[in-house]
Amino acid sequence: MARYGMVIDTTRCVGCMDCVVACKTENGVPDGYCRDWISEEARGTYPTVQLELRSERCNHCDRPPCVACCPTGASHVEEELGRIVLVAHDLCIGCKACLSSCPYDARFIHPEGYADKCTFCAHRVRKGLEPACVAVCPTRCMHFGDLDDPHSEVAQLLESRRHHALLAEAGTSPSIFYLT
Ligand code: SF4
Ligand code: SF4
Ligand code: SF4
Repeated sequence: MARYGMVIDTTRCVGCMDCVVACKTENGVPDGYCRDWISEEARGTYPTVQLELRSERCNHCDRPPCVACCPTGASHVEEELGRIVLVAHDLCIGCKACLSSCPYDARFIHPEGYADKCTFCAHRVRKGLEPACVAVCPTRCMHFGDLDDPHSEVAQLLESRRHHALLAEAGTSPSIFYLT
């Protein structure tokens, strides 16, 4: 069964935030909220300082605590769609248990009262399209595909390049990897 994920090349990201704007437009994300964001991490000491720019979002974890803790089943794994983690808005009671459980602070309560976050653009993926943020990136630093398919672009990038996942020690098995 497929496991969809992203591989993001931090050496190509210029922090332009086109991915953030595309997500807000594509998904009608309300003002004051974002499903994705750019983080900056400086490493090393002068004069060999390295700045890593990362486009971040829900990691669509393979062991998602947000799903395990949800009392209504609203937060769930779409097994038939690459194990993407989604929220069924009509089942969500806005209790915020999932917000507290997420080590990545990837969720927020939508003004309409339900938990919201990145969906990996499931509505586009179902049509065979890339997620909006991936499609608009001017440096093509983001790649989306099946991590479990050894022939996929994402699997081959992970095979050939140095990479890391965020907060791997949290044990959630994130499905987004960053090339360095
Ligand atoms: Fe859940 Fe957070 Fe993992 Fe997304 S990043 S699947 S919201 S625990
Ligand atoms: Fe489940 Fe909604 Fe509560 Fe999150 S806020 S745990 S999705 S019922
Ligand atoms: Fe937003 Fe879709 Fe990208 Fe997720 S995959 S950050 S929902 S544009």
